[in-house]
Amino acid sequence: MTERATGRNKERDDEAPARESASSGGSSPSKSKKKAAAPRETFDKKTIALVYDFDGTLSPRPMQEYSFLPQLGIDPKEFWAECGRIAREQGADPLITYMHLMYKKAKERGIRIDRADLVKQGRDVELFPGVEEWFDAIADYIKIRAESHGVQLRHYLVSSGLTEIIEGTKIRKHFHNVFASEYWFDPYELPYPKRVITDTGKTQYLFRINKGIEDLGESINAHMPESERPIPFSNMIYFGDGETDVPSMALTRKSGGHAIAVHPEEKGRGFDTCVELFRAGRVDFYAAADYRRGSDLFKRTCLLLDRILADIRVQEEIWEVGRF
Ligand SMILES: [Mg+2]
Repeated sequence: MTERATGRNKERDDEAPARESASSGGSSPSKSKKKAAAPRETFDKKTIALVYDFDGTLSPRPMQEYSFLPQLGIDPKEFWAECGRIAREQGADPLITYMHLMYKKAKERGIRIDRADLVKQGRDVELFPGVEEWFDAIADYIKIRAESHGVQLRHYLVSSGLTEIIEGTKIRKHFHNVFASEYWFDPYELPYPKRVITDTGKTQYLFRINKGIEDLGESINAHMPESERPIPFSNMIYFGDGETDVPSMALTRKSGGHAIAVHPEEKGRGFDTCVELFRAGRVDFYAAADYRRGSDLFKRTCLLLDRILADIRVQEEIWEVGRF
């Protein structure tokens, strides 16, 4: 990166904690840009973040298969196989390849799909059982169990899928923020990838959540001491379904956080992947992608939330003891 970018980072790094505090309910009285600010008057590491992959985790199939590919009369299996073949042959990024090929094929068929059309396609995306009610159910659980007052719950989505389609889904409103791949629609003959979120690239967004730097116009690279990061990894649970989630799961767990792998109801490849992730220590738990209250996934998530809530109480007590 350039010196110009580095210079900007330093400035942003100083600003970010104050801004995050303000946006998360103003738990810190300090709005100072200086790191040697007055001591905080309340313990402010009380935000829990549940971070989800989308395809295969909240929805059974890749989101492009519900509307975009059928509209073009393309068999999804053939489409993904072609993407894989072209990416290998050309040494291309598989995600850029799929984003390009979708619109190349639409153009070949004379079908125009603009941003608003993509957003509309979100309505057709199927979700696993209980996903729509999950967010309220988890909020209820936290409310009942959070003896430490002021605990906030946030849900985030980090997906290699398309921002536009996610925007049209019924569950978009539940997310504090969505980080996903996206198109430019204006300047080119074909829509052009504006942002591509790869498997390893997903970890950048976990750091953004951790550091409270969610504005994508701000760089994430400048150093920020752990004490200034608004959402510690230990307050996070990452939900994923497969090998594409390994970098995110590994980062989350190595940094003191938690991860759960989900699989479709049926036994099979997805289930085997979960077992492998569990045996490799990538996840705390795995469970069927059944988000209904009382399911294994719900119960195991609640167990991890109990641990996080207990940890927050312990940290808060330590903070209280140490403030004098
Ligand atoms: Mg997935």
